[in-house]
Amino acid sequence: MTELIYMPDIESNYIKEFKARVQTSGKDHVVLDRTAFYPEGGGQPSDTGKLDWEEDTSKVVKVEKKGKVIHRLDGPIPEEGIEIKGHIDWERRYEHMKLHTAQHLFSAVVFDLFDGRTVGNQIYTDYSRVDFEPVDLSDEDIEQIEDEVNSLIYGSLQVRIYDEKRAVLEDQLDDCRVDLSLIPKSIKNLRVIDIDGYDICPCAGTHVRNTDEIGSVQITNKENKGKNRQRIYYEMI
Ligand SMILES: [Zn+2]
Repeated sequence: MTELIYMPDIESNYIKEFKARVQTSGKDHVVLDRTAFYPEGGGQPSDTGKLDWEEDTSKVVKVEKKGKVIHRLDGPIPEEGIEIKGHIDWERRYEHMKLHTAQHLFSAVVFDLFDGRTVGNQIYTDYSRVDFEPVDLSDEDIEQIEDEVNSLIYGSLQVRIYDEKRAVLEDQLDDCRVDLSLIPKSIKNLRVIDIDGYDICPCAGTHVRNTDEIGSVQITNKENKGKNRQRIYYEMI
């Protein structure tokens, strides 16, 4: 198993460079013993970047989690046992962290104000979308959501990441936006993203340490996606 070194706490989300050893190499990819590259999943895109070793370098074009964490490379492939240095494309990753943390705030605000649950989300590098259900949001509602999220952002809320027992969360998150029944029963410990107690949600993605890093957000569009289901698009300004 590859150790995911961005997982344990919020500070580990800021690892930009790391050393690791190649476990297996394929025609266009490697598996490492540890990695700071985020593999695509949960609505957050894969990181990109590069691997350096000895005299060589190769671009990391995509990272996927298919049982193993596969780093797809464009360039030479390091052999098994070689020590590499990984470099994350930080500009891209940091945008994902900001947009992803903002998504937690949108999800919490829409649940608080309109009882709408988040039923889908996708982050892109310069904008994101979130789907809510059941909702019927007017233009005024959209303005209210945007204002509320921005006031939370300006409130400089601390973001923490920790492991919590499922049973504890089930008590704590009663009647909350998070539907824990969707997470397989076999998972007893969950990685929690806690935005200053305002929003607590299990998530495997990467996030910023304080909401003030996000700046401001703007909702750019809303779409109806069927009965009682709406999608909003937002970006940072
Ligand atoms: Zn998250």
